[in-house]
Amino acid sequence: PTPSAPLLTARRLHARYGGFTALDGVDLDLSPGRITAVVGPNGAGKSTLFHCLAGTLRPARGTVRLGGRDITALPAHARTRLGIARTFQQLAVFPSLTVAENVRVGAEQGRVTDRGAVERTLRLLGLDGPVRALPAAGLPTGTLRRVELARVLAGGPRVLLLDEPAAGLDTAEVAALARVLKALAADGTALLVVEHDLDLVAGLADVVHVMNAGRIVASGPPGRVLDALGTGAGR
Ligand code: ADP
Ligand code: MG
Repeated sequence: PTPSAPLLTARRLHARYGGFTALDGVDLDLSPGRITAVVGPNGAGKSTLFHCLAGTLRPARGTVRLGGRDITALPAHARTRLGIARTFQQLAVFPSLTVAENVRVGAEQGRVTDRGAVERTLRLLGLDGPVRALPAAGLPTGTLRRVELARVLAGGPRVLLLDEPAAGLDTAEVAALARVLKALAADGTALLVVEHDLDLVAGLADVVHVMNAGRIVASGPPGRVLDALGTGAGR
């Protein structure tokens, strides 16, 4: 495919919790080399959309395709094997394993088994120093977030889904995260970032979708979309 052709496409996604409509006809495209952000108030449906893409929630209607293949019915682990990686809002690392062992597990769960991937990923996330041999338990949140990201990246994902990746990070850690995500996009990964931190989104995203009440209500480049929200992001 050409660089701009979408890799992951969602069409007319509807999702319900009991009688409540959480997604009401959402379309979304994720393309290689692009960082797509989804923002919106609490309860807008951002995480629900995320779960439909990751395979942890089956939409009531609509389709999710990867490279043209309909994956709507595939569970999360099958999507991981196809190259769709995700992080968790609650950290998901194995506390008793070391940093390097956590990353090795991720490499085994992913799309490619490449011996160099673990070392490359540890380096990319700045985890190749002495910290690599420490058990994950007890490491600071910022470090654990990097371990979690390294774990999913070691599997060589084509699509990376991130729900609130900046949660709990300090300013320096957010800046470091932004650099890593930009490097991944430059390498051809298709990224989705669901994020509260509009300053991060303003500096990071190629395109922003604003959700409200289960729908995408505005889309465009961050400068235009975030200014229209009147949030002051990008000030
Ligand atoms: P966001 O991530 O944008 O804050 P969510 O996708 O988590 O929004 O939630 C969208 C709506 O669906 C909210 O009104 C929320 O209360 C509701 N919701 C989310 N998860 C569940 C669930 N498991 N059961 C019932 N309602 C839910
Ligand atoms: Mg959420």
